[in-house]
Amino acid sequence: MQHHLVWFREDLRTTDHTALAAACLSEHPVTAVYQRTPETWASFDIGTNRLAYTEQLLNSLYHELNSLNIPLHVQTTTYDGAAEMLADLCKTLGITHLHFNRQYEILERRRDYAVRTRLTDQSIACIEYDDLCLLPPGSVLTAQGTPYTVFSPFKKRWLETYRHAGQGPFRKPAPIPHARTFPSMSAVSHTPESDIHCWAITEDDALARLEAFCQEGVLHYDSQRNAPALPGTSQLSPYLARGLLSPRQCIAAAERALNRSIHEFPSESFGWVNELIWRDFYKHLLVAFPRLSKNRAFRPETEKLAWRNDPKEIERFMSATTGIPIIDAGISELTSTGWMHNRVRMIVAQFLTKNLLVDWRIGEAFFMRYLLDSDLAANNGGWQWSASTGTDAAPYFRVFNPVSQSQAHDPDGIYLTRYLPVLSALPPKARHAPWMAPHGLDYPAPMVDLKATRQRAIDAFKGLSS
Ligand SMILES: Cc1cc2nc3c(=O)[nH]c(=O)nc-3n(C[C@H](O)[C@H](O)[C@H](O)COP(=O)(O)OP(=O)(O)OC[C@H]3O[C@@H](n4cnc5c(N)ncnc54)[C@H](O)[C@@H]3O)c2cc1C
Repeated sequence: MQHHLVWFREDLRTTDHTALAAACLSEHPVTAVYQRTPETWASFDIGTNRLAYTEQLLNSLYHELNSLNIPLHVQTTTYDGAAEMLADLCKTLGITHLHFNRQYEILERRRDYAVRTRLTDQSIACIEYDDLCLLPPGSVLTAQGTPYTVFSPFKKRWLETYRHAGQGPFRKPAPIPHARTFPSMSAVSHTPESDIHCWAITEDDALARLEAFCQEGVLHYDSQRNAPALPGTSQLSPYLARGLLSPRQCIAAAERALNRSIHEFPSESFGWVNELIWRDFYKHLLVAFPRLSKNRAFRPETEKLAWRNDPKEIERFMSATTGIPIIDAGISELTSTGWMHNRVRMIVAQFLTKNLLVDWRIGEAFFMRYLLDSDLAANNGGWQWSASTGTDAAPYFRVFNPVSQSQAHDPDGIYLTRYLPVLSALPPKARHAPWMAPHGLDYPAPMVDLKATRQRAIDAFKGLSS
């Protein structure tokens, strides 16, 4: 008799889960497994926000799976110990087939290779699926068969490929008609550093938020996406990163709401699909350029850049006391909620890497510590874009001015005062650069001269080519 095991990783849901759907189609008993790997995660700089959130999602998954008659076993190990632990479980349960959705980071791929080798030796069939992206890495290539390194042509080719490949989301499987015993799940408690209670922890809640965004937000996406004071973006990234939602569900919900395929979306709404394609782009890059998983710059010549990495300045950045309101508000948003608006992520990342000349890897690790949506591909992509060390990155001479960015995207300083209430004593237009007039508020003077540090960054990058 066959017995199928589904290994859950960053895909903590039951609906539109490719591996689970395939296992359930077998019409044999299905069991699930999840591995906590705290030591390995600590080495990735993953903080307690994400750990606490993952535990909540795991608990919710356990109950969802129980309702489908699928027991979930939770193990604790390291990536190196993963194969042995799975092999033991397979032996105990008499597993004949292992199903899992691929992860694309190098250490995950190495772990999975070890698992495949170990279980194949035990005559267990290992079946892998591409599930995390809309189109699998390696499927969007130039005419020469090479990976794209620039987003626009990647997107063009992506859209052509998707037209022929697009497959809709899978439904939640029907309960398996086999009597089962359910292992109890030991709870592991993490105290999050931020207040994360407002984020969805069930699939139904995440799907409801997706629907609500598609009914309303997707229609005005392009005009509101850069305003951090508005709920102009979907705020679905923690669900996509942890796999409570799939990107296919996102596309399907948007297509339903607009009653047309993404190929016919008006530009105002297509902007949102564009972001999901960026998500694919960064994951595809990770597979095509393994050095991105190894803490290395996409542009090797930028490895020679003389980062300053001044510890006191890094401390002021991380404690939201730079004296530049948009930077301090962004860092406060991150540390208090576990999320930060995309426009502000770009502004703070440019400030750290350009005005303070701090190595992007320090910023990347800082984000990993707090973000609920932390994800190697997108985080590395965002930091390397901002630092001008990445593929298709911001040109080094176009350094954002954080004050002009703040004035353009938060004209009345509403976002600023949400996270820096002290500034509400100032008239809205004065909140972006309080040092321009005497104010007597308990708010620090700017830690750097923006103009001089901008020039210093440009000179440092220019020096690389001389
Ligand atoms: C320095 C920096 C670090 C970042 N780190 C992460 C990270 O660790 N994890 C993460 O998911 N995103 C990261 N991003 C990308 C982006 O900021 C977030 O995905 C976005 O803010 C999430 O908000 P949302 O769900 O409202 O996005 P929406 O605007 O509603 O977009 C929909 C979805 O598309 C994806 N997406 C959007 N923008 C990007 C992008 N630029 N790159 C890749 N995917 C994108 C996300 O999954 C997002 O949920 C980073 C960006 C920068 C500049």
